[in-house]
Parts: sequence; structure tokens; C-alpha cells
Amino acid sequence: MKVPFFDLTAQYASIKNDIDSAIHSVVRGGYFVGGRPIKEFETSFAAQCGSHHCIGLGNATDGLFIALKALGVKPGDEVITPAWSWISSAEVISLAGAKPVFADVDPRYFTISVEAIKASITSKTRALIVVHLYGQMVDLEPIVNLCKERGIKLIEDCSHAHLAAYNGRIAGTSGDCGVFSFFPTKNLGAYGDAGCVITDSEPLAQNIRRWANHGGLIKDEHLFEATNSRLDTLQAAILKAKLPHLLQWNNARNRHAARYHKLLGDLKELTLPETRPGCIHIFHQYVIQTAQRDALQHFLTQHEIQTLIHYPKAIPFEPAYQHLNFSEHDFPISSRLQNEVLSLPIFPELTPDQIEYVCDHIHKFYGK
Ligand SMILES: *Cc1c(COP(=O)(O)O)cnc(C)c1O
Repeated sequence: MKVPFFDLTAQYASIKNDIDSAIHSVVRGGYFVGGRPIKEFETSFAAQCGSHHCIGLGNATDGLFIALKALGVKPGDEVITPAWSWISSAEVISLAGAKPVFADVDPRYFTISVEAIKASITSKTRALIVVHLYGQMVDLEPIVNLCKERGIKLIEDCSHAHLAAYNGRIAGTSGDCGVFSFFPTKNLGAYGDAGCVITDSEPLAQNIRRWANHGGLIKDEHLFEATNSRLDTLQAAILKAKLPHLLQWNNARNRHAARYHKLLGDLKELTLPETRPGCIHIFHQYVIQTAQRDALQHFLTQHEIQTLIHYPKAIPFEPAYQHLNFSEHDFPISSRLQNEVLSLPIFPELTPDQIEYVCDHIHKFYGK
């Protein structure tokens, strides 16, 4: 048996007619930038999230950058961001001219530590980017309160968290705005790069839309120097066709996670992912921890089970941040995670047989 890490062709096969007709209708219409599919997707996605506005963008990295700029982050400001995440949530801070301040994560849930945030706040802290990593919600309540008290802007990076929820509030609706990636392998994925920002604030929504469209809402309006990061019409049509399936795909991932949990629960050598109480986790990744990570990955590869590492290096240790001279003592949890995490295959179309095959081989590896 072969177990791939993900299989985008299986999902396409299951919704082929809807996707094909969405694509054909855009191509036949001859309208590739702007147009009805974008408005329709933005309206449906905002409604599903329970947010007032959705602005489609070229990708989530642009979304984070634009959110920082639209919220007024400027040179001299500090922005707190997790040390353990994909690089987007850090690189955009320097791109916006501000200083990234890395905070370590909680060892249990992989998400930014509230204590580490508190220790990082200075008079220059202007904004905080939190990441609902692997589909797990950050501990929003104390963070939202802290940001309100200290006048700090809060951006939720929801690139792993489409329709995850914290005490009934959907990801992206608790701070100033939520940023989503629709990279093809995300829980809601386009057939190329795409992203969006959601917000309840009308002025912020307008500002973000201008930032993504050369400083204007209409043709030939350029109120300030901005950029071009619009959602493709074709991608919007594809996302709109996929959106009605998202809940059911998230549920399938949850069933797979529960099965992994049951079948791997007896292995003391492993730490399995937990769900924060009161939250809906959407298992974008199923990430286990083990001291023998590299050997286990090698063994699984030999048996045609594909796994990945999210991430091989904590962000502060990437060459891009070498000049900041961080050591492992600065981020003890992230330093350990980079050596111990392993992401097992999880995607909606994964079969119970495949999960059993993976778990059998993990048992074999430990001689059980
Ligand atoms: C994928 C991802 C992004 C960036 O998304 P793009 O759409 O590829 O720019 C940002 N943050 C996290 C946590 C991600 O996983």
C-alpha cells in the first residue's frame, strides 16, 4: 500500500462537474480580473465565517502584509509573532518596515504562549499576529483582552484554520481581522495561489481593498502607493464551488484524527496532538512528537508512507534571521519541536485502511 501525504486529484474527482462548470463559465465569459465570481465568493465566505467583509487577495502572505499596513504599522513599531509557524507570519513584519518580536509557543497546543506575549510587550508594540497552527485555535480570550487593554492591533493568521472555532467564535472574527490562505493544500484550497482577509470593520475593509488595488476602489483612483494583490476570477469561481464542501471535509479530517488517536494511543514513545477545550480543531495537520523523529520518518518512507515536517527550523533560526543571533535558549519549546515534530498524512479522502497501515508501521517501528 502507498500512503501519500495528500492527494488533490481524489478531491477533484469527487467534485469534477462543479469545478469544470465553474472554470468553463469564467473562460467562456472572457472576464479574468474582477467580476461576479469574486463578489459571490467573498459574500459566501464572509457569511460562513460570520464576518461582515471578505476581501479576496492574491495569497495570504500579501494578506498579512496588507493587514499590517492597513492597520497603520510603520517603521519603529514592534510586532509580536510566534517563533513556531510558517515564515509568512514573520517576514511580512520586516517588509512593512517594523521589527518582528518572536514569542515562543505553548508545548501542549503548538500555539503562541500568552506568557511569552506578555513578556514581549514594550511601549513600541503596535500589533500582534497569532497563528491558529495546524488547525488548532490559539488561546484567544486572554489575548483579545490583553490587546484591548494595551491598544495592540490583533491579526489572526487563519491559513490553517478555515472554520475552526474558539468558544463558538469562528477563526478570524475575534481580532481586527483574519487572514486566510487558499494555497492548494490548505483545508480550502484553490488551484493556484489565493487568499483573503475578513473583518467586521468597514473602513479597514476599504483600506485593505485599496491596498490590494493600487490605492483605489475604482479604476484610476490612486489615493496612496500600494500594490496589486487581487484574487483571480478563476480561483474565486473554483473556491466558490468548493466552499459548500468545506465543513464536511473538516469533519472527515476530524474522524481521521480520532482514528489516529485511538490507534496510536498506546505508544508511550509518542506525544499525540490535543484539542484545546472549548474549541473546534480542523486538523489541517496531524502532528505527532517523538525523540526518534528522523528514524521514524525514514522507516515510514521505506514503507511508502509519506510524511512531512512542519517545520524543520523554527523561524528565528532560519538564515533570514541569522543577524538577530538567537540561541536555542531564547525559544526552548520551538527548539525542541523542530527536532521532534512529524506530520502524518491527513486529508479528507484518506481511507481507514490507509490510517491503519500507517499506525501498524509506527507500531512496527517501536517493536510493538
Ligand atoms: C500557507 C501559510 C501562509 C501563507 O499562505 P500563502 O497563501 O501561501 O501566502 C501563512 N501562514 C501560514 C501559517 C501558512 O501555513
